[in-house]
Amino acid sequence: MSDSSKRKSAKNKSSTKVSNQLPRSRRKKVEQALEDGVNPKGSPRSKKKPKIHRFARSRVKVGTMRTIRFPLLETEMGDPWPVRVTVIHGSKPGPVLTLLGAVHGDELIGPMALTHLLGTQFCGPDRPIDPENLAGTIRIVPVVNLPGYRMRSRYFPDGRDLNRESPGSSKGNTTSRVAQRVFKNIIKGSDYVVDVHTAARGRTNLPQIRADLADPASNLMARAFGIEVILDSLGPRGSFRRSANEMDIGYVTYEGGGANASDAGAVQVVLYGILNIMRSLSMISGNPSRPQARLLAHGSQWIRADEGGLLDMRTPAGRFVEEGEIVATITDPERPGAIATVISPVQGLLICTATNPYVNSGAPVGHILPIHRGRKTVESMLNEDRILVPSGTDGDPPWREETEVDEIQVEGEWFEGSVDGGWHSEHGPPMSQVSAEEEAES
Ligand SMILES: [Zn+2]
Repeated sequence: MSDSSKRKSAKNKSSTKVSNQLPRSRRKKVEQALEDGVNPKGSPRSKKKPKIHRFARSRVKVGTMRTIRFPLLETEMGDPWPVRVTVIHGSKPGPVLTLLGAVHGDELIGPMALTHLLGTQFCGPDRPIDPENLAGTIRIVPVVNLPGYRMRSRYFPDGRDLNRESPGSSKGNTTSRVAQRVFKNIIKGSDYVVDVHTAARGRTNLPQIRADLADPASNLMARAFGIEVILDSLGPRGSFRRSANEMDIGYVTYEGGGANASDAGAVQVVLYGILNIMRSLSMISGNPSRPQARLLAHGSQWIRADEGGLLDMRTPAGRFVEEGEIVATITDPERPGAIATVISPVQGLLICTATNPYVNSGAPVGHILPIHRGRKTVESMLNEDRILVPSGTDGDPPWREETEVDEIQVEGEWFEGSVDGGWHSEHGPPMSQVSAEEEAES
């Protein structure tokens, strides 16, 4: 080892040290996960010589790719909602990686990205994902919530949220039955899952990963993704992420862009992230790209309107704002000429902003990661408009050693214990569509 690389790894050791300001029990867990993540134990499945891969009632031969229609409901009558599941079964041993899109039917970045991934640019002989050379198995489901997607809705036809009913029950309500089938057939047999989302209606997200960093496999995936912003959190109650983690399945939720909207940058970032995870797990060849620095956030703050009216955001998601900076203005059709400003209470990185202009006093308009330590590093990643442009948004992201990545811990807690807890229903769907158990994570 050269002197300079010695210095680098020493530096890395101190920068990945888990902060003393985290609650002690949490700190211990994340530290342990970091250690386990450095030397992943691998899945027992990954040691076996590959043979036929069974999915639901179908079989996929070694070194082949096959698309199966998997019915979300087992019925004789009515629409069983057959979703398209493509299984790429490699000819070398390796883990099972599952990729999900549109668990919320109106979040379209997942269907777009996973459809690209299945195209000839990425899949097939001599492409990055070549069944002949693949180690392990990939299952790709571009649209999980098929009825919601057809209706351009986040929800199921019974008005419930598929990502709040897991692990579900075969005797429960419609959404619960579907959650049970998805969990049992698609998620349970996986070692790792990437679940692609966007912000819920009325807001937009800077591309970000959400993962329980105390779970070793999820910690490994979150870092391997090669993204700047990682939110350390448990999945909401009833989410596939929470149920999967309880079974030691690695699970990360990607969030980028907004519902019912396209966003080429958010699609690019998740495509690179998925390939990075495959490379880090040695499923495909090549070196993963990595960001200059990553923020590991354990909490956040909210920027709220103090007046009601029509909101005009002045700062987009991704912008680094100063304490006291005007992030939005509010006008009121009842009082032409009057204008109110919305001020950031703290310096930091805006990770989500409102897109719905209708606000009342107290409504959240921005979600911010307060940045104190590591400010210089964050600033070095901003463009001339003081916006963090995620690695991979435009063009191939660079390759760098893991030891060259700076890690910045963002202390704090999540409002009401959930990453999106501050949004609640101000920008959500009509109350008639919100089930009683609804939590706000998108
Ligand atoms: Zn979602």
